[in-house]
Amino acid sequence: MAAMDGCDVVVIGGGVVGCSVAWHLAALGAGRVLLLERRQVGAGTTAQSSGILRTHYSVPENVELARRSWAVFKRFADYLGEAEASAGLVRCGYLIAAPEGTKLQALRDALAQQAAMGIDVRTLTPAEAAALLPIARFDDAALIGHEPEAGYADAYLVASSFARAARRRGVRVIEGVDALALRRAGARVVGVETSQGFIAAGVVVSTQNIWARELEAWTGIAQPIAAERHRVLALQGPQAYTPAMPVFKDLASPGLLYARSYGGGQMLVSEGLPGETLATPDDRQGEVSMDLVAEIGAQVAERFPSFAEAGLASSWTGVYDVTPDWNPVLGPVPGVPGLVVGHGFSGHGFKLSPAVGRVLAQAALGLPTDVPLAPYALERFGAGRLLKGRYGAGAVS
Ligand SMILES: Cc1cc2nc3c(=O)[nH]c(=O)nc-3n(C[C@H](O)[C@H](O)[C@H](O)COP(=O)(O)OP(=O)(O)OC[C@H]3O[C@@H](n4cnc5c(N)ncnc54)[C@H](O)[C@@H]3O)c2cc1C
Repeated sequence: MAAMDGCDVVVIGGGVVGCSVAWHLAALGAGRVLLLERRQVGAGTTAQSSGILRTHYSVPENVELARRSWAVFKRFADYLGEAEASAGLVRCGYLIAAPEGTKLQALRDALAQQAAMGIDVRTLTPAEAAALLPIARFDDAALIGHEPEAGYADAYLVASSFARAARRRGVRVIEGVDALALRRAGARVVGVETSQGFIAAGVVVSTQNIWARELEAWTGIAQPIAAERHRVLALQGPQAYTPAMPVFKDLASPGLLYARSYGGGQMLVSEGLPGETLATPDDRQGEVSMDLVAEIGAQVAERFPSFAEAGLASSWTGVYDVTPDWNPVLGPVPGVPGLVVGHGFSGHGFKLSPAVGRVLAQAALGLPTDVPLAPYALERFGAGRLLKGRYGAGAVS
């Protein structure tokens, strides 16, 4: 690698968020931009994502970021200005159903809020829902929301596409380099100490996900991020979960399951509850025990009767960067001028990544941001202004 000269903006972390920030910095004319990744682009938690895209949120700020991001996913190649770019988007829609009980009002309110924000959401009868997702039963549903403009995409592909497009716009993407510390002049950040030497920078953007705890040592400012491991299963049932069938969120299941088509006809399924908190940030694979498979399998069979006979085709684990309110921290860090952060996505950052990349780039450049970042400020935790969703803890937020 050539000696690293100073630059205008350094982005630490080449996941889907950092790659989006880097591309948006270049698109906004940021000057010399450098993206540092200690492993490979996309190799962190982005590679573990279930890839679901929806604007369904109970927190209106998230609806807005998701809406802006969906607009990008829909025309990803055009947006990047690269005819060959793809997000791997499948526009199958999103169904969310609640029975009578504690989640019903939350769903009703969230759907009404989405509609008031101009999003195309409908309520369906059980028969209408079953026509879209015939492998599921809906006889217990008190309310079913349908968002036709939703689906899933490939988070790794989106990260690598943003990174490639950023390189073509002049961003230096350097893999295999560890950011070790921030160098400061007084309070202000003036660059990054790395495993390959010092890089002077006007602004540093940290998109380090679970590793954002490193910022505590670098700045002395607490970053309330817990690393939480979650399990994902791929099931092969006697009936296919085809790509045309909508993603499904089951608010009736004890685990608040989400499911989607996977690999052509399998079902990808995971729980929407808090996961296993890890003592240190670590995204290596954990165990998926037979007990856990049986526990999720029983819930799947309850909703998708033919999947009572399903086989386990694959399983893996992934780690969420969870904040106390299950929503991200976006924007400048108080008391550390020159540092902007984007982390704490709490298991729902992929669907926000295009819009988040743009607002973080705007914040880094001192430009007005597309949406106000105040609700996502780090200070909210100390000030008791948590950005809590109506569904309680969990990535539906
Ligand atoms: C199992 C699972 C399922 C999910 N499903 C969904 C979903 O359906 N929909 C959705 O919207 N979201 C989902 N998410 C969340 C979404 O995937 C994440 O929010 C998103 O991918 C995070 O991207 P990131 O760039 O913040 O983090 P990462 O991809 O983890 O990137 C951070 C990068 O920073 C690098 N790094 C850290 N510290 C340093 C350092 N000091 N020096 C150099 N490099 C450093 C790391 O190596 C890493 O590559 C899911 C997540 C998981 C784990």
